Amino acid sequence: MRIVIYPGTFDPIHSGHLDIAERAATLFDKLIFAVAVNAEKNPLFSPKERIEMIMDATRHIPNVEAFSTDGLVADFARKHRAAALIRGLRHVSDFEFEFQMATMNHHLNSEVSTLLMVTSEKYIHLNSTVVKDVARLGGDISNFVPINVMVHLKEKYNLN
Ligand code: ADP
Repeated sequence: MRIVIYPGTFDPIHSGHLDIAERAATLFDKLIFAVAVNAEKNPLFSPKERIEMIMDATRHIPNVEAFSTDGLVADFARKHRAAALIRGLRHVSDFEFEFQMATMNHHLNSEVSTLLMVTSEKYIHLNSTVVKDVARLGGDISNFVPINVMVHLKEKYNLN
């Protein structure tokens, strides 16, 4: 079974993440989201909430699972017997960091290879911080997040 891990904070999952997940899931037997607990980033949503939103937003993809982790992605990949990590690449500026992470993860777990998937053009400027900022100020984010995430963001910010 070919398994790929999609690591990130996903606070919350947005359409750019979903696009990468949909495409990567067709290339592997199973795609597992590794949701970083990332307490130092002070996430808006708890790991449990982030996983629920991911599972809700990916109902149409049959081969997806999601778990939280506060450890190394390389260890998470080993535990799940994954062959690969998938990461989205938006700008050239993402590349340096992703390159460093990929070489370090390969050093920590030589059985895992990192694949970088170029984001669809319409999501190039999208990230979770922008989504949260726009939602908090009452802007329209319907093109950028799945409907279930929009509902959760409105609840968090007490918007109707
Ligand atoms: P962010 O807070 O920037 O959305 P995450 O840590 O949740 O970032 O990102 C997890 C993975 O998703 C990373 O590989 C990141 O490059 C990728 N990603 C983030 N935003 C996008 C996007 N708009 N299009 C494609 N991939 C993305």
